[in-house]
Amino acid sequence: MTHAPRPLAPSATKALFLDLLPDEYPLTDAPPFRKRQIAEWVFKKRAASFTDMSSLPAAWRADLDIRFTLRALELARSQGATDATRKFLWRLNDGALVESVLIPASPALYGETSDRLTLCISTQVGCAYGCRFCASGLDGFRRNLSPGEIVAQIMAAETASASRVNNLVFMGMGEPLANYDNLMRAIDIINAPWGLGIGARHITVSTSGLVPAILRLADDPRQIRLAISLHGATDEVRDRIMPINRKYPVADLMEACAQYRAKKHRVLTFEYILIDGINDDPAQARLLAEHARRLRAKVNLIPYNPVHGLRFRTPSDARMAAFAGVLEARRVPATVRREKGTGIDAACGQLRLKTIRAEEPKRRS
Ligand code: SAH
Ligand code: SF4
Repeated sequence: MTHAPRPLAPSATKALFLDLLPDEYPLTDAPPFRKRQIAEWVFKKRAASFTDMSSLPAAWRADLDIRFTLRALELARSQGATDATRKFLWRLNDGALVESVLIPASPALYGETSDRLTLCISTQVGCAYGCRFCASGLDGFRRNLSPGEIVAQIMAAETASASRVNNLVFMGMGEPLANYDNLMRAIDIINAPWGLGIGARHITVSTSGLVPAILRLADDPRQIRLAISLHGATDEVRDRIMPINRKYPVADLMEACAQYRAKKHRVLTFEYILIDGINDDPAQARLLAEHARRLRAKVNLIPYNPVHGLRFRTPSDARMAAFAGVLEARRVPATVRREKGTGIDAACGQLRLKTIRAEEPKRRS
């Protein structure tokens, strides 16, 4: 089994074509070039329907059209922020809503000439892990996204913005490693020369610390980047804000990271949201520096994005600078990520099911 079955709305009885790899395209006795041709229509020419695939025999087009749909989602809402970040709200075929966020390179971070265009994408509807600070987990888990629904976010964001995405972060709604098989199939489609052609090194998967899945990834040949949402250097702090820590405590997580590091020889990133009075004291910074040095990991410090209805706050600039200073003094490579898109609640970790559901009819009228 490659992915969980998707509940389909009564009107959406066709299977999603984007879930398939070209080898699986249902063309018995067709020469291999035909499958390549169809992939080209789908991913390069971005055909909106099978009918448009003019180089295919008409009978095939009709047959594919009866059995499959090319449309995984539609744009329900698009919002821009002053920093040119754009948030897309997608409606999936069963009516569920997820979001992606398009983030242009920050000149301050990557240099004036950077043409990096990052898309932050969702992997699940909701999230089962319930981190206390995160909007995505507030309303629980609804379902996994299929591979095609993951890929379609990129294609639709490119269409909506008339641009090409060249960097991906799996930091939207959901826990990517809890949807492992669908995620990997999506990544294969994203990587493939016949697919979206975005290299594995330009793809970062973020996890809240699913130890068995990290170990599985360590044995996986794909060269994607891994980011660990640490947010606390001790069990005491992590237990308070991340329920998953009770299952996979810090020592187990660090051991899994060490194994990943040993097998992959790839730099890991620790993400660390700074939350006022919760995890931002210098003692945590010192312990974080120790973990990072041991694993030769980079640290991404992220000022907490306030979530409506949650009591957490962003620390003062002075306090965040002091935290960063502790890492710097210990020569741990660290960046402070200025969250983009906060004006539109689009920064990662702010995608909340209930809010967008409640807002939906109002905005559409
Ligand atoms: N579930 C995965 C990936 C999605 S969350 C994970 O947890 O890593 C992507 C990132 O956004 C994580 O590092 C998460 O901790 C962070 N995040 C969640 N809520 C946030 C908030 N309110 N402010 C800043 N970052 C947040
Ligand atoms: Fe889920 Fe990640 Fe949010 Fe935690 S931070 S609730 S794992 S999306």
